[in-house]
Amino acid sequence: MNILTLDAGGTAMKYACFHDNEIVCQGERPSGSARGAEVFSGNMKAILCECLRKYPADAIGISTTGQVDAQNGSILYADDVMPGYTGMKLKEIFEAEFSLPVHIENDVNAAAIGEGTYGAGKGYPDFLMAAYGTGIGGAVMAGGTLLRGSRQAAGEFGHIRIHPGGRPCGCGGRGCYETCASATALVRNAIELDPSLTDGRKIFAAFNRGEAKVKTLVEEWVREISYGLISLIYIFNPSRILLGGGIFEQPYPVTRLREIIAGEIQKSFLPVDLIPAALGNLAGVYGMKAICCGDYPPCCPAAVSV
Ligand SMILES: [Zn+2]
Repeated sequence: MNILTLDAGGTAMKYACFHDNEIVCQGERPSGSARGAEVFSGNMKAILCECLRKYPADAIGISTTGQVDAQNGSILYADDVMPGYTGMKLKEIFEAEFSLPVHIENDVNAAAIGEGTYGAGKGYPDFLMAAYGTGIGGAVMAGGTLLRGSRQAAGEFGHIRIHPGGRPCGCGGRGCYETCASATALVRNAIELDPSLTDGRKIFAAFNRGEAKVKTLVEEWVREISYGLISLIYIFNPSRILLGGGIFEQPYPVTRLREIIAGEIQKSFLPVDLIPAALGNLAGVYGMKAICCGDYPPCCPAAVSV
């Protein structure tokens, strides 16, 4: 079976053509999202056309930023970062264009499905995916099935109120989890300390050199991450939490989070494994591949219980 997948994010569009379980072609382009929905969907169409000319497909799977109605394949809500995207009927548009079945899913949900089917969540029917980047994305896998919520938006971990009255957030609230615990929040605080610490790599280089102020900064950031995770563990009682985002290529935050959580959670909720997500920035395309070929949802989730 040949499946064409596209992970259309705010910055880049990643694509991969699968032949059965193997990726035969993949790449990445700028998404053009800031220029609005027409340009964004036009860029999607251009990539799909180009891939289909070389690799005819049986189905197309697209994961995208925004609140997605996976049933109808439309965008329920996208914020002002991409004007005109709310309401766009991607499934209808691309099925008419290509005469192929098209599946649409939210990007973090797709990543969780990819990890759950082929990656670090495989064999764990109850896991959370928490992705730390510009903001904090989340997805909840419960009994082997994605928890969707009434408006298909369950799992927006980034807007849990951690510090009421704190920093303003893009959602209109204040003191949200992502204003304190995202990778962006870490870099923002690091720049206030030392303007040369402009990315995670530089911050952890200073951390590894033993610079005391940077060590304190990283420790405070890891604490902020733990506040959100502890609440999530009490709500969902997962057996595993997958930590997404390039920042978790660093070993220290994962090790330290394990210590904090093991020490602070009521013992009856343990063990909870914390591990970096395994599929990196291909998790989304693997998730769409799983949906298109029927590997997700699993036919009998109980069978994969551990
Ligand atoms: Zn918020």
